[in-house]
Amino acid sequence: MERIDPKRNGRCHAHTKSTGALCKYPAVPGATVCRHHGGGAPQVREKASAYLMGLAYPAAVKMGELINHRNGMIALAASKDVMDRVIGKAVQPVESDGRTIIEIEFVNRGRVVEHDA
Ligand SMILES: [Zn+2]
Repeated sequence: MERIDPKRNGRCHAHTKSTGALCKYPAVPGATVCRHHGGGAPQVREKASAYLMGLAYPAAVKMGELINHRNGMIALAASKDVMDRVIGKAVQPVESDGRTIIEIEFVNRGRVVEHDA
């Protein structure tokens, strides 16, 4: 897989056929191209997924380092983020006018728990 260029800021690396300019669409997460330039292909999605999974461990290490950051606000935010991911987020109220159907999917430790609306 082509390396992701941070200068593209998550944008597709492909060039348009008509003008040759760089594509302006966002790249598929973990990939270098948008869905218009092959980002939806199964092999691209598979490699993108593997790339993102490879980042999970270094991201967890970095989060662990931030828990001990000298700036208390950063340490608190990192601690809350870890707690949200390990234990799950606290229940948050949702307002509705009674006419809108809201589907909420809670994801916790890789399990998907669906709640009735
Ligand atoms: Zn593109």
